[in-house]
Amino acid sequence: MLSTMQDVPLTVTRILRHGALVHGASTITTWRGADEEPHRRGFAAVGQRAAQLAHALRDELGVRDDERVATLMWNNAEHVEVYFAAPAMGAVLHTLNLRLPTDQLVWIVNHAADRILVVNGSLLPLLAPLLPKMPTIEHIVVSGPGEPSVLEAALEQGPVRPHVHDYEELIAGRPTDFDWPDLDERRAAAMCYTSGTTGDPKGVVYSHRSIYLHSMQANMAQSMALTDRDTSLVVVPQFHVNAWGLPHMTFMTGVNLLMPDRFLHPGPLAEMIETERPTHAAAVPSIWHGLLAELRERPRDIGSLTQVTIGGSACPPALMTAFDELGVRLCHAWGMTETSPLGTVARPPAHAHGTDEEFAYRITQGRFPAGVEARLTGPDGRRLPWDGRSAGELEVRGPWIAGAYYGGQDGEPLRPADKFSPDGWLKTGDVGTITPDGYLVLTDRVKDVIKSGGEWISSLELENALMAHPDVAEAAVVAVPDDKWGERPLATVVLKDGATADFTALRDFLAGRLARWQLPERWTVVGAVPKTSVGKFDKKVLRRQYADGELD
Ligand code: ADP
Repeated sequence: MLSTMQDVPLTVTRILRHGALVHGASTITTWRGADEEPHRRGFAAVGQRAAQLAHALRDELGVRDDERVATLMWNNAEHVEVYFAAPAMGAVLHTLNLRLPTDQLVWIVNHAADRILVVNGSLLPLLAPLLPKMPTIEHIVVSGPGEPSVLEAALEQGPVRPHVHDYEELIAGRPTDFDWPDLDERRAAAMCYTSGTTGDPKGVVYSHRSIYLHSMQANMAQSMALTDRDTSLVVVPQFHVNAWGLPHMTFMTGVNLLMPDRFLHPGPLAEMIETERPTHAAAVPSIWHGLLAELRERPRDIGSLTQVTIGGSACPPALMTAFDELGVRLCHAWGMTETSPLGTVARPPAHAHGTDEEFAYRITQGRFPAGVEARLTGPDGRRLPWDGRSAGELEVRGPWIAGAYYGGQDGEPLRPADKFSPDGWLKTGDVGTITPDGYLVLTDRVKDVIKSGGEWISSLELENALMAHPDVAEAAVVAVPDDKWGERPLATVVLKDGATADFTALRDFLAGRLARWQLPERWTVVGAVPKTSVGKFDKKVLRRQYADGELD
């Protein structure tokens, strides 16, 4: 028997309409540096400008069907406008990670066959030398200050000569409403490529439905729990898994957005927090490490922040404690490009509140929400129990989890066997345990775990333990080849300014926390841990550097 309920498609269009109408007075504030007033735009105006942009894309640039509209942009109000205009008109938003190695960026644009590119003026010098290698791009729309003349030489060289438009001139005078089409909720709305730690980057294509459902769960009290009384500082880039869903989810609930644009260093971030007083912020751990160091040097009032969503890589417990002492509560979350991204959020269960157990729950990766099914698979393919002890590869399934990768314009979707199980679950590549009450504790990534004499050593556990030492700013541990044990851990450590700890002292410190056979014999002090395009430890680089197991 079928239900008697209305069959209304869950689309980004509905989120846009709702935000612009019901929460029209909520604002997006875009930071413009210390010397300029921040720019403020209400959700109602964003909705009107998204309509104007959709008219321009359709009538002037000829966007049809599910063509890709790419963005090479910082976090700002205009980027949110493209976020809504492209999917709502039936096209596909394609966010480009501006920090990727340029050969990957070129590969991705060609693979997605992007025809329209909206770019921030400040990024034109990055784009110019790449343009001749991007023959699919026919229109470049420049938003914000910049010098389009830097494109001239590149435009001469390319096989096709894209037209260059000014964003404001392009949308000016067009109707501020749009007859948004009725879309199938399963249609592509947005796409984002993973950063390709192995092989070519892989494109994840989100549907209208997956974005809608992900936004609803991200808003839940056990997730980010934001309301229209909040202002969220969105440090996580809009090119990194849809800024963890914040632009969409906030249009559902009227949460105000504070966008840092290109001002992502700790100094400007501290200033933004002090003057704009956001209540929430979202960023990867390396940003919070940087902010902590900045605050120690130049104390600022960051007391407006009542909660912070932190994830993308493991939050070291010491970082959480340091922010607790500042009165700012970090809330740990786990996810990936393939999971939209929110997969778990670490809100402790009711019985742990106010007890010693509370912190233990807070440093887990978090609890699975309804909508994300999880299972653990051991090295021999057996399912493992949720007993908080059995460690295996995490596999997930759900309505906002990828079931395949984009195969290119005429290609079939890709389902590589190392990423998808035969029965369609996503193999996350993350290794961990799950407690009986559904909390995930990651111990490593499959490719980072150190396989020593038939046992696994968790690089994450070693790193967290090291970063709890008062002299250590950051620590990354990688496997290096070892004649006797197969692999052994090598620790690279960044010391805090003026710190003097030596390796014996650090080893002794670890000895109290981990089994002796897990402790690294090889140590090196580095100025900084290499980071990926989204601010995570780049262990690929470290492994290459120490491939022979020898220190320099
Ligand atoms: P990439 O795969 O290029 O790093 P993603 O942003 O999709 O890009 O990364 C997802 C991965 O990041 C996860 O599979 C996991 O290994 C790691 N990760 C994300 N959040 C956490 C977290 N809270 N703790 C530990 N690892 C995390």
